[in-house]
Amino acid sequence: MLPDKPLKSLGEFGFIDHIRQTYGTQKADVIQGIGDDCAVLTYQEKGKLLWSMDTLLEGIHFRLDLIDFYLLGWKALAVNLSDIAAMGGIPTQALLSLGLQADIDVKALDLFFKGFSDLGQKHDVQLVGGDMVRSTSDIMITVSVLGLIKEGNHVLYRNKAQPGDWIVVTGPLGQAAAGLDILLTQAQEERSSIPQSIAGPLIQAHNQPCPAIEEGSFLASFPQVHAAIDLSDGLAQDLWQICRLSNVGGYIEKTRLPLSSEIKKLAKYRRIPAADWALFGGEDYHLLATIEAKAFEDIQARYSERFQRPLYPIGRITEEEGIFLITDSGERTPVKPAGYDHFQP
Ligand code: ADP
Ligand code: MG
Repeated sequence: MLPDKPLKSLGEFGFIDHIRQTYGTQKADVIQGIGDDCAVLTYQEKGKLLWSMDTLLEGIHFRLDLIDFYLLGWKALAVNLSDIAAMGGIPTQALLSLGLQADIDVKALDLFFKGFSDLGQKHDVQLVGGDMVRSTSDIMITVSVLGLIKEGNHVLYRNKAQPGDWIVVTGPLGQAAAGLDILLTQAQEERSSIPQSIAGPLIQAHNQPCPAIEEGSFLASFPQVHAAIDLSDGLAQDLWQICRLSNVGGYIEKTRLPLSSEIKKLAKYRRIPAADWALFGGEDYHLLATIEAKAFEDIQARYSERFQRPLYPIGRITEEEGIFLITDSGERTPVKPAGYDHFQP
């Protein structure tokens, strides 16, 4: 158990000893984890290695008044695992770098590691090292994850979408953005007017995303699944990435957007269209993939058999560039790839 005191009283090395003992369990392919100058892993001679990195910055990606340390640790790993999932890979190990103020409470920090490690254990991903530096103000969290492509699977790239492909998503859209909307207005009196049965699942979608690792790896076993991306910046933006890199366009049918009953109810309370969250809201971390039309029905059937959840077709890839929305009345309107751009807010 950790004492209730600031990080500076334990010191960097005292705290690293704690995380090594508590979260440093050794998997078979890890020769040396936390504790030396480098992690030492068994090198996979066959196949392709995936390697990614993502940073969360206080004030930009999270606010400590809206998320607790446990969920922050979970989310920091989740967004990274999601990148591996989007390539069709299986994540294996992670590195974690933290910029922290010296007076941060070690119990809170331990909760961060607990959240990180709980999600890691769920997907058999081990924390094998990292770094810790003093920050003068905001918390900075950088995670790097390694992953592998299962034998027989192919890599799901962003630039391989083909005209005629179905555009599919692996879960209901806009949940995380709607959850954030609730969190942001919670401070105000509106909070009480949103029943917990609606707010709960939406807030959880925002704070505790579940990376679609099994789903990505399943899709990567079919050569007819051409391209994929994880939904981090919003459907419009992420589909636009696929289209622009594949030199194609696409349309989304509004009536096909998977919307949960909670988001529909919240949309009524707020008097705004739920489809706006679905199209432009980020951080759902489901996968968007494109699938050859001929194989689509078969893959869709096998997917729902495997996961007991639907794979949602929402539109098609077209030769003509540009992204369009087919409205309820059948009209075709252009969709601006609005989403999050760090340097052009
Ligand atoms: P170095 O002096 O080589 O930078 P450190 O003192 O920073 O080493 O780290 C000591 C050990 O603790 C290393 O094995 C490192 O990978 C691990 N470590 C440091 N920070 C973290 C962290 N945030 N999460 C996991 N392991 C960490
Ligand atoms: Mg160091």
